[in-house]
Amino acid sequence: MDKIVLGNLSKEEKKNFFQSKYEYYKPFNLRMVTVSTLAFMSFFVTDCSIFGHFAYETLLSRTIVLIPFILYLILTKKVSDYRIMVPVTYLVIHIIIWCTDWATYLLPDRQFAIPGMIIMNLIFVCAGFGAPFKYGLLAHLILLVDIAVADRFIHYDNVEMMFMFNAPCILAVGAMHHMMQGVYFEQYLAKQSLQKLAVYDQLSGVYNRNILKEINDPNTGKLTFAPGVSVGVLLIDIDFFKKVNDKYGHEAGDKVLMYLADIFKSNMRPEDYVIRWGGEEFLIIMPDRDQQQTLQIAKMLREKVEQSDNGVCKMTISVGAAMYNGGDYHETIKKADEAMYLAKNNGRNQVVSYEMSQQDNS
Ligand code: GH3
Ligand code: MG
Ligand code: MG
Repeated sequence: MDKIVLGNLSKEEKKNFFQSKYEYYKPFNLRMVTVSTLAFMSFFVTDCSIFGHFAYETLLSRTIVLIPFILYLILTKKVSDYRIMVPVTYLVIHIIIWCTDWATYLLPDRQFAIPGMIIMNLIFVCAGFGAPFKYGLLAHLILLVDIAVADRFIHYDNVEMMFMFNAPCILAVGAMHHMMQGVYFEQYLAKQSLQKLAVYDQLSGVYNRNILKEINDPNTGKLTFAPGVSVGVLLIDIDFFKKVNDKYGHEAGDKVLMYLADIFKSNMRPEDYVIRWGGEEFLIIMPDRDQQQTLQIAKMLREKVEQSDNGVCKMTISVGAAMYNGGDYHETIKKADEAMYLAKNNGRNQVVSYEMSQQDNS
């Protein structure tokens, strides 16, 4: 199999990757921006010692960074999209830079600008962990623009040194972020394949119950994949399956389970969900099927199982069918389960429709 590389992913897949990377580093990012803001404000103490008195001159420039920082904190709670939050993170850092320049401008001695730049580069390194590599590179290049613009007002004693110092820093940090992005990409791929595995049943290869978490709204229990269409639901239980295990052994039982799961899967459309519901029970969810079609499919599956040769012994199934028309899907599964037990009580190897059994009762 070809190695999956970030560059070959579709736009949507890349977006998912960067979103996942941002979310992974989000707590780190939050602490880093908080610490940077507090560190910047604490330089006020240094100002006092440089001035030799309470440095009210730099008080405003040191505290003004609180405004974007508070905005950042509010947005972090409300917005999760990395395309907004990464630029907002960098914005806070650039405002720290501008406030630093402002404070430096007011200082009697400006020779502290270079150590300030070292600190800024460190902050950029940390902020870049959660950012797409390109965003980080752009933020670094803007740092050079920041210095050039600031120089027009501050007139740094050694602006050439500042550029000569920052240019290699940008290259080094850029290379490091590129490498870190590659490391997270490997982790992301592993996480994705685990997530895929988590919704499949290892033995039968059909879905397991976890798939239901992905296709319903947890607050309402509504199925989300086919709004407004009628959905057919089948609950299938293999008849006298315990006897297969008892007579032919557990391995033969497994083989029969795999074989029957294969029959269910191969007779369904790609948009249907075949789910191993429990030991020898299967749930089938079929979007855009009316009651008549649902029953026809149930009967077809029952016949196919009865006629099939799984290499161990003859098998039959009992099927309960129910219709889902919105609302909590658990209710529909309960109905299908009731119908399935009716099928068992009526002598097995048959299909019972919940809706029709209700009509018969009334
Ligand atoms: P009924 O017609 O009433 O459904 O009878 P049954 O024997 O199928 O029902 P019962 O619930 O008594 O037994 C189900 C059996 O399925 C019990 C369990 O050992 C077996 N089983 C469940 N999961 C597996 C599995 O993964 N592999 C195998 N081989 N057997 C399994
Ligand atoms: Mg059972
Ligand atoms: Mg059974």
